[in-house]
Amino acid sequence: MDRIIRRPMSRRNLVSGLTAGATAATLATWPGLAHRPAAGERNAAFRLQSTPTTDVPDGPFTLEPLPYDYAALEPHIDTLTMQIHHDKHHQAYVDNLNKAIADLPDLHAMTAEELILNLDQVPEDRRNAVRNNAGGHVNHSLFWELMTPGGAREPSGALADAIASDFGDLAALQEEVTTAGLGRFGSGWAWVVIGEDDTLAVTSTPNQDNPVMEGGSPPILGVDVWEHAYYLKYQNKRKDYLTAWWNTVNWDIVNGRYEQVAAG
Ligand code: MN
Repeated sequence: MDRIIRRPMSRRNLVSGLTAGATAATLATWPGLAHRPAAGERNAAFRLQSTPTTDVPDGPFTLEPLPYDYAALEPHIDTLTMQIHHDKHHQAYVDNLNKAIADLPDLHAMTAEELILNLDQVPEDRRNAVRNNAGGHVNHSLFWELMTPGGAREPSGALADAIASDFGDLAALQEEVTTAGLGRFGSGWAWVVIGEDDTLAVTSTPNQDNPVMEGGSPPILGVDVWEHAYYLKYQNKRKDYLTAWWNTVNWDIVNGRYEQVAAG
């Protein structure tokens, strides 16, 4: 990540490199790695028709259905944006990841999280495609999960304590994330991570990069600031989107991720 808003994150892992041992240790703390959302059956009738293709492998990666209605986040995130974002953009990351590694069977047993933690194991001529598309797959899978309807409307427990300690209050954290998202020129993400000294930190990455690519911890929260995430409803008003987006965050999910990453 090239923009650190609050505190610099540890770069120790950059020095040591991502060894197999380090990877296993990091993965053990990756929240939701084994999580597979239930099929969003109610979405079936509304799913956009996929463009028939003959040259896209159907694996090893597949796109899980959105685990809730495309309309579930209205009015904050509109139905059409959710349909296109999930069924077209996320699908494209999955398809392009499968294409990128089609003839690299050694990589087929790895999860997308493992791939972005081990980009040095990807042949150089495919590395950027894997970085972008495995990154896109990981980031969007997290993004849908964070917006799962029905959860707590504010943090609690250890995360609430950490926010109070490191930011003062939730509004201050939200403001830093919004600032990070607005400051990201072009396309990218704003994140909350557990940074140096186990304190919470806000950061941002370009493109589909994820904080773990530079040795950071798995993010506990992230918001997509690509135009495709908001343009239909909010046009150029990224700030309005970011402000509205907080209404979709399921803090039970964020609490759980915080406790898992902090324990790791
Ligand atoms: Mn996106």
